[in-house]
Amino acid sequence: MSMKRILVTGGAGFIGSHLCERLIEMGHEVLCVDNFFTGARQNVEKLLDNKRFELLRHDVTIPLSIEVDEIYNLACPASPIHYQFDPVQTTKTSVLGAINMLDLANRLKAKILQSSTSEVYGDPTVHPQPEDYRGNVSITGPRACYDEGKRCAETLFFDYSRQHRVRTKVVRIFNTYGPRMHPQDGRVVSTFIVQALKNDDITMFGDGQQTRSFCFVDDLIEGLVRMMHTPDNILGPLNLGNPNEFSMRQLADLVIEMTGSKSKIISRPLPTDDPKQRRPDIQLANELLDWSPTIQLKEGLALTIAYFDRLLRSDAARFGA
Ligand code: NAD
Repeated sequence: MSMKRILVTGGAGFIGSHLCERLIEMGHEVLCVDNFFTGARQNVEKLLDNKRFELLRHDVTIPLSIEVDEIYNLACPASPIHYQFDPVQTTKTSVLGAINMLDLANRLKAKILQSSTSEVYGDPTVHPQPEDYRGNVSITGPRACYDEGKRCAETLFFDYSRQHRVRTKVVRIFNTYGPRMHPQDGRVVSTFIVQALKNDDITMFGDGQQTRSFCFVDDLIEGLVRMMHTPDNILGPLNLGNPNEFSMRQLADLVIEMTGSKSKIISRPLPTDDPKQRRPDIQLANELLDWSPTIQLKEGLALTIAYFDRLLRSDAARFGA
């Protein structure tokens, strides 16, 4: 494979940093662009000495003039705590960010992949969710800045493809977890692990019967890279996620068991518009990419727990806790 120059927006975030690493391992040059809202330099620390890696602080809502062959557009806060902090900026990041990156791709004749989300399905009435399900999204609720921003970004990707012949790809990512998740992102995997490691109470929203399916980050990265390499007539949208479904109660029990924690589970009211069930239908990814997740929850959790354990210990050492 020939060396390419690849832009990863949001590359200092959780998923983006793993993608940058993978692209560097594949022998490419990587330009990582991030405004560090939820990302951090530490996430790409290992790459900073590499001559093929560049890190640029930049906000994707502002146009960028560079030369690249491919673009992975990942910039966007992904957890409710972060995307609801400044909802207008979240919508701008998805919509203006998509326009700016698509304009760049158009000018450079570069291929561009959008990281969309299972949240475009909202609180689904169809289960599991295939790509042609149009979703059940609140237009006005507190999650809409993210869900509708991502929906509009998808629309833009398809319009740039039809109108300007830009080579676009859209993937819809379902819950992904792994090392370098933000410890305070309020997402269930990181929250439960951090609470368990600290022996704090585990906060369960509702009765814990709501389900999610969790994809380990390495599996997801494999799917993103394979999608980028599909022929130009494959645009997506394409679901990427792990179809194995777990209730929040099962997840909490597993985390407590694996960390040997003394934490107790306590119940809290369900947040507004929280989906009750979420599971990807990944038949299309199976057919088009010959892709399916290979890492089981227990294996992925062990790696994630080890990461948070190291992080908490280094914080404790630094702050004398
Ligand atoms: P993350 O918050 O760790 O990463 C997002 C990155 O984008 C961060 O580094 C952040 O600083 C950066 N960013 C935010 N706004 C920006 C802006 N205006 N300009 C430049 N950089 C900006 O989240 P993540 O989990 O790594 O998510 C990456 C992508 O994957 C997002 O687009 C998200 O919507 C999508 N996604 C993630 C999940 C998941 O489970 N993690 C699920 C569905 C979709």
